[in-house]
Amino acid sequence: MTDLVQNYLDRILAEHEPITEGVLADYIPELAAVDPTGFGLALSSSDGYVYRCGDADTEFTIQSVSKPFTYALALQKIGAPAVDARIGVEPTGEAFNEISVDDETKAPKNPMINAGAITAISLIPAATPDARFALIRDFFSACAGRPLEVDEAVYESERTAGSRNRAIAYMLDSFGVLDGDPDEVLDVYYRQCALKVTSTDLARMGATLARTGLNPMTGRRVIDPAVVRRTLSVMLTCGMYDAAGDWVSAVGMPAKSGVGGGIVAVLPGQLGIGVYSPRLGPKGNSVRGVRVCRSLSAQLGLHFLNVTRESRSTLRSVSDVGDGVRVYEVHGDLLFAGAEQVTRTAQRQHEEYTAAVFDVSRVDDINDAARTLLAGLAATLQTVGKHGFLVDPDGIVVPLDSPHRAAAYETVADAVAAAHTWLSTRPAAAVDD
Ligand code: GLU
Repeated sequence: MTDLVQNYLDRILAEHEPITEGVLADYIPELAAVDPTGFGLALSSSDGYVYRCGDADTEFTIQSVSKPFTYALALQKIGAPAVDARIGVEPTGEAFNEISVDDETKAPKNPMINAGAITAISLIPAATPDARFALIRDFFSACAGRPLEVDEAVYESERTAGSRNRAIAYMLDSFGVLDGDPDEVLDVYYRQCALKVTSTDLARMGATLARTGLNPMTGRRVIDPAVVRRTLSVMLTCGMYDAAGDWVSAVGMPAKSGVGGGIVAVLPGQLGIGVYSPRLGPKGNSVRGVRVCRSLSAQLGLHFLNVTRESRSTLRSVSDVGDGVRVYEVHGDLLFAGAEQVTRTAQRQHEEYTAAVFDVSRVDDINDAARTLLAGLAATLQTVGKHGFLVDPDGIVVPLDSPHRAAAYETVADAVAAAHTWLSTRPAAAVDD
């Protein structure tokens, strides 16, 4: 059976495929050698299911997408007051590699610019640079749910070409902001930036933040909820270089991009998204990555200020009422993530029933993306010889004045009776084996 959400995401990716604007980052020579056409998208639901599209399993270097995670690790290890004493949380509106600090405190303005990220590394308590890097790598791997490795060529390339970052590190050292030897801290920074990830990894790392620090795939708590809240806050205000304001308005998800072409975006409580496309726009963000995220947000209603009144499990109950009829009772506010859960469950279980009744009479609110998914579910079930019946007395999915209103039932009893009638009269050819 075709999967509705997978189809939808594949289509979004295909729509953006022809965009070739932007250029590869070349100030780190190895980055100019990657395949410019790579294009991957992965979306993890809050229960850890990952949809993968295009080159979702192609590895690339994490670069600045590492910054929020190292900041989270520093907060986790030494607490917010100690981190705040060295790194601010104010957006700068400056480029990522600007040699910039707060005029008065001399501390980097936020952890998403290089000055703040290099400082964050220096705050992670460890006896040696190797031990410090091991803590970072283990932490990133726990968020991704698999062990991550360094791209040695990219690491060497940046190490030998990094005079800008050396300038930043030595400036921070001169202000007494950096804990440790600047060259040692930088070496860890370059290794961290050269960690290899896929869009799928970024979606899982994003989902770990979406789940307030619990990796939904491994079930392991990796980050404290208060640390996640702080991390998402700076991602929201400072995550997209000097295009952060435009991003928040148009996409509305805490995010971080990197010059390797990756973007991680998080819809708190609901989704983690990873995108990869290495051609960058003038502000250093992946051109196709940003466009895909804009489309996803607009079409699926993912802006974080589209607030659901309650976020509870969408499926209230699933029950079999005899003769192959299964009733799914849906409740609460139904946005994309909730509808995804309902359609995925019904699709996954389709061999366990012949007719499915979807009761949305307890759904309080719904958006267009969820309505489209639920409306499409009946059609997709038909392709495998099953039939869906909708209980929708208030016109939540099929409006009361719609010409298709006859397809909706007032009560579960009515829909179950219709299902039985359909079962007894359907043509023999449609009978499943
Ligand atoms: N390693 C890169 C640098 O420090 C990361 C830059 C980025 O992704 O923004 O220049």
